[in-house]
Amino acid sequence: MQVIRTVPELRDRLRERRGKKRAFVPTMGALHEGHLSLCDHARNAIGPKGDLVASIFVNPAQFGPGEDFEAYPRPLDADLDKCRARGVDLIFAPEADALYRPDRSVAVTENTLSRGLCGASRPGHFDGVCTVVTKLFHLVQPDLAVFGEKDYQQLAVIRRMVRDLDFPVEILGAPIVREDSGLAMSSRNQYLSERERAEAPALHRALAAAAEASTAGEALALARRELDTTSLGRIDYLEAVDPETLEPLPKDSTGPGRLLLAVFFGKTRLIDNGAILTRR
Ligand code: AMP
Repeated sequence: MQVIRTVPELRDRLRERRGKKRAFVPTMGALHEGHLSLCDHARNAIGPKGDLVASIFVNPAQFGPGEDFEAYPRPLDADLDKCRARGVDLIFAPEADALYRPDRSVAVTENTLSRGLCGASRPGHFDGVCTVVTKLFHLVQPDLAVFGEKDYQQLAVIRRMVRDLDFPVEILGAPIVREDSGLAMSSRNQYLSERERAEAPALHRALAAAAEASTAGEALALARRELDTTSLGRIDYLEAVDPETLEPLPKDSTGPGRLLLAVFFGKTRLIDNGAILTRR
């Protein structure tokens, strides 16, 4: 597995590997089975002879002031071992100044899907995501890229960006990988105290309860009832939306839909989502 830290070196190595089908998995590191499942999906899609590229980059542009950019875990050596064991061919792990010039003045903005939900709670977040993914796509030039449904809104925003800006890359979505408790795997789970971790599976219980509902309004009520069982969780948002447009569903809608939620445990913000109103 090649480990590359700079843009010129990345260009050189990729030039040598031209001609193979190339899949790309962008991450911020602190890798867990969720990330590694994306590598498996990517490998399945390109076959054993394809080239699997992953990036590990804690992107400063997608963190707001006061968020956890500094605290974000960066266990690079352990991450590299996991990637090696999972058959990744090339890792791009630049420092921030290898990707961003101090006087940079161009960014990529998606103007519809990124407005609500996490975009409303984290202004500028999706501009940072779209900009770094654009840069990484230009550098890596993959045939396909895999993103997790864990970040459902992000996946929708990236699909829209790729569609509207004609990126020659196929976007694959991969299902959410969960711990046995139902808690969606996340690099941020390691911030949780023991008590918070014990309560956090309520997010998944909320989604499971909502999946049984027959209207969007009922899905929201059932989910809220589960979330209200936690003493430490504070709801940031809980919304039932159209799975494609992310527009809020009317209360009497019978679907299909997606329930998305974000809940704070202390300073740790967890997100999760699941399908609703798909039973009939
Ligand atoms: P991150 O490192 O948090 O930026 O995530 C990198 C990629 O991994 C994104 O496409 C995420 O949606 C995906 N991902 C993170 N956690 C999970 C999970 N539990 N299941 C599936 N994909 C995930």
